[in-house]
Amino acid sequence: MPLAVLADQCVQCGLCLPVCPTYALDGNEAESPRGRIAIAAALARGQVSPNAELREPLDHCLGCLSCERVCPAGVKYEALLVETRSLLGPAPERPTALLEVVKRPRLNLWAQRLVRWTGVWRWLGHALPGAWREALALAPGKPHELHHVHGKPKQPRPGPPPPSRKGKKVGTVALFPGCVASIYDAEAERATEMLLVAAGYQVTHLPAFCCGALDSHDGASREADAAAAHVRQAWANAKADHLVTVTPGCLSTLRKALPEVRVDDPYRLLAERIDTLAFHPYPRQLALHVPCTQANVARSDAALLKLLRRIPQLELKRLPAPPYCCGAAGSHLLQFPERAAQLRESVLAHITTLDVQGLLSSNIGCRLHLAAGLKEHASALPTLHPLTLLAQQWIPS
Ligand code: SF4
Ligand code: SF4
Repeated sequence: MPLAVLADQCVQCGLCLPVCPTYALDGNEAESPRGRIAIAAALARGQVSPNAELREPLDHCLGCLSCERVCPAGVKYEALLVETRSLLGPAPERPTALLEVVKRPRLNLWAQRLVRWTGVWRWLGHALPGAWREALALAPGKPHELHHVHGKPKQPRPGPPPPSRKGKKVGTVALFPGCVASIYDAEAERATEMLLVAAGYQVTHLPAFCCGALDSHDGASREADAAAAHVRQAWANAKADHLVTVTPGCLSTLRKALPEVRVDDPYRLLAERIDTLAFHPYPRQLALHVPCTQANVARSDAALLKLLRRIPQLELKRLPAPPYCCGAAGSHLLQFPERAAQLRESVLAHITTLDVQGLLSSNIGCRLHLAAGLKEHASALPTLHPLTLLAQQWIPS
């Protein structure tokens, strides 16, 4: 749909303003969804020429889509943002070379090994945002486990293959590992495979590569189109019924590449088969962070809660909904680390008021960013993907 038509859907009611994290941060109309749509409309009609002042609020947008979720006029804000950024091209602050490494899991792994082996990361780390210091300090695949309270934990780690269930399979699921998540959330992917198989699904894997979300959201449309073609090719080879990713940040881009396919995070598929799953008790209190993309794109927070509530004695304390965004937002934390840290502060302030022993979040970017912030606040609160916790507590039948 042309950009001007997308912008014309906005009736300027302002109902999206109270849920917009950047409007809450800056208190400025240009940093609100309505303000950004007005800029996009003026650009699309050629009434203004792109300049640094106009593009700044568009570059600051987190793509959290809280505005799209509440809009009564059905404005397709994400499509509008992608089109506008494609018109403008990537932001000058975009760390293109670093992102080229991040998007390639093998290269990323080798680069990390190199900086760790040479000890370079100790000084290089200080030049990077906290989330990347967290990432560099993490040995790939090293689990950030919460305390296991019931015997030996189930191992969603290398070693034993996932359990196989006899009987009819309820469908074949292809797991998409993504790029960053394929390294830092490999444990969650193994946990997902274990749980899906336990719930009666057959599981297959797509290769690890970038779905194109980082490029699409940054206005690098040629690279995003190439990534979408890669997704379609990989899906065609997978011969599966569903495509699943443990990273909600990839969902929207995967859905756009494969409009005819059911693309989801694993929670809905697992919640549909909840009667097949049982869990050991976990007598602890955990904070639950629901990433914006999980709430607004996957819309799987109800399914996630349904699954976590199956763990006896687990007490969840959910962090507040929008306008609270942790500020990670794909490459936003690399492009605008100070704004990302400011946005994170309100989330951290809430966490510190809670009496909890850990923090759950489904998005690797959010988890690394929040973990770095907790460390800056001298908090050693462990963080974990909810699927890893579910796999740890799962009881084989
Ligand atoms: S809620 Fe929708 S229609 Fe109203 S100002 Fe926001 S984007 Fe425009
Ligand atoms: S996507 Fe999020 S940050 Fe961007 S305008 Fe909408 S609510 Fe604000």
